[in-house]
Amino acid sequence: MTSRNKKARKNLGFYVNNYKFHQPFQILIDGTFAFAALQNKFNIQEQLKKYFQSELKLLTTSCIISETEKLGIFSTSINGTTQIVKQYAIHKCGHEKKPISGSKCLRSMIGKDNSSRYIIATQDRELQDRLRLIPGVPLIYLHGKTPTLESPSEASRKRAEVMQKDLGMTTWQKENIKVLEKQAGIMQEKDKLKKKKKKGGPNPLSCLKKKKKPETILSKNGIKSGKVRKRKIKIAPHIKEALVIELKNKCET
Ligand SMILES: [Zn+2]
Repeated sequence: MTSRNKKARKNLGFYVNNYKFHQPFQILIDGTFAFAALQNKFNIQEQLKKYFQSELKLLTTSCIISETEKLGIFSTSINGTTQIVKQYAIHKCGHEKKPISGSKCLRSMIGKDNSSRYIIATQDRELQDRLRLIPGVPLIYLHGKTPTLESPSEASRKRAEVMQKDLGMTTWQKENIKVLEKQAGIMQEKDKLKKKKKKGGPNPLSCLKKKKKPETILSKNGIKSGKVRKRKIKIAPHIKEALVIELKNKCET
């Protein structure tokens, strides 16, 4: 891998990591890029694939085609350019009925945040300047025969920084949530224990009540129980003696 490829991969990696770009990478090619490729005998399909070492999807729009067609009236090489851009898949841009200029069309395709994740291949300096202000728009241009994926613009880098900070916040928040969940878990365990106590509670209580009830009933009925016996034992000896004498007298009589 050449240092040029390494730089391209590094720059592409930035968009993969920060702006969710993925293979096949969509490259929107405008007339100026196709024209430069033609002039420099640069085979866009082959050379770009080599340069990026990734799966690519080369795209254009009907506006770009009609623009190169119009310009084709004046130049044979522009005609060749039309032939080049016509090879690519035409992405719907919404101006099919009323074509607009290629640069305006590309700007509308990018919108505010390049949500479709296009890489823009253009030699148009003015368009490049405008697209550099929008975060997450990779730019590629030809320097002679050499393709160059530009280093991320300041807008792209700043937005990525903010997003990473946001990401940091969410991981921090996630940690916080984990702690809260753990605490909630402990609370739930406590609740479970309380419920268990409550569940186990009524039984001993009812048992106690049941015990208390028979006791009272027993004592009221005078049926012998441990406690009643204990009371008998507590009877003073002289009364016991008197009782025994009484019983003896009854038996004798
Ligand atoms: Zn269009």
